[in-house]
Amino acid sequence: MSVLVVVEHDRGQMADASLEAFAFAAGIAEQLGVTVDALLIGADAASLADTCAAHGAATVHYVEDAALADYGPDAYGSTVAAAVGALSPSALVASGSDRGNEVLAYAAAELDLPFVANCLEVKTADDWEMTRVQWGGSLNEDARLTSSMPILSSAPHSIAPGDSTVGAVATVNTLDVALPESATATMIQDRIVLSEGVTLATAPVVIGGGRGVGSAEGFDVLEALAAKLGGVVGCSRAVTNNGWRPHSDQVGQTGTRIAPQLYIACGISGAIQHWVGAKAAKKILAINTDPAANMVVKADYAIIGDLFEVLPAITDAT
Ligand SMILES: Cc1cc2nc3c(=O)[nH]c(=O)nc-3n(C[C@H](O)[C@H](O)[C@H](O)COP(=O)(O)OP(=O)(O)OC[C@H]3O[C@@H](n4cnc5c(N)ncnc54)[C@H](O)[C@@H]3O)c2cc1C
Repeated sequence: MSVLVVVEHDRGQMADASLEAFAFAAGIAEQLGVTVDALLIGADAASLADTCAAHGAATVHYVEDAALADYGPDAYGSTVAAAVGALSPSALVASGSDRGNEVLAYAAAELDLPFVANCLEVKTADDWEMTRVQWGGSLNEDARLTSSMPILSSAPHSIAPGDSTVGAVATVNTLDVALPESATATMIQDRIVLSEGVTLATAPVVIGGGRGVGSAEGFDVLEALAAKLGGVVGCSRAVTNNGWRPHSDQVGQTGTRIAPQLYIACGISGAIQHWVGAKAAKKILAINTDPAANMVVKADYAIIGDLFEVLPAITDAT
């Protein structure tokens, strides 16, 4: 028996979130006294077996099919459901990313089993107990699950990836899966690259601007500091609503969830919908004229002042 991890990747590039899923699965496997196994889907994924082994997979199950040449939720969901049928794992796990949750939802529907998304902690017993993130991150829910085979995703950025074991080797098992014709109902046709290189989701430093920035041109002072720190500029929804920045720059519940080493939030009040997208930052510096602003109260560091005085001073000193 094993905890089976569905590995998320994009054309053979493993998503960092998959490493979090391995760490999450390891915690469950330890409680159950079983191994962690991995499921790699698609021809491009074959090269990821060693990385899976380094992150704790004892056996790597590999599925290839013409319908799996690129990502499609129906094809991936059906593949996962078929793998569960063939392998009978103790639990099925993936990262709680958009794609991870989508694949597990499709698989759960096909298996007619319940799926619990975005878990923080899991205790295994006759009934499984879990704490999971709800309402876009604004509350944590304690839940109890009765299922013959729990299907769980780990809340993004809630668990650190485990250390990788250099030289670890996993048994590789090729699974034959017969996919229905309907499996190709939804397939990627094209990709539009919105930003090259460092993105908001992966940047080590994010400089966020809110309504306090006042205009599109006001973001020049944020861009100047971002350029010096090797970071990228993000913003609040007040900014995108005003048309000062594109939606792709928005941090928050309905934007991007960021996890940089440093988030500098300038002229942002810290509404819950913004906070849930920013709270995974390792350190937060708030720059705000209001000492009582939620972002100031919650930040690791705060500078109370006008961002148009504070930011140029930091940029000059950097
Ligand atoms: C369903 C839903 C989803 C949402 N999703 C998101 C989301 O994904 N992301 C998001 O950001 N919001 C989201 N919101 C909106 C959110 O509720 C807030 O309205 C928004 O985050 C406020 O943006 P803000 O902090 O820039 O503006 P404000 O709340 O107006 O705050 C402006 C801040 O700037 C400070 N300030 C003003 N001038 C200066 C200056 N010169 N120097 C320094 N500080 C200054 C003020 O003291 C204030 O704290 C969502 C709302 C809903 C209902």
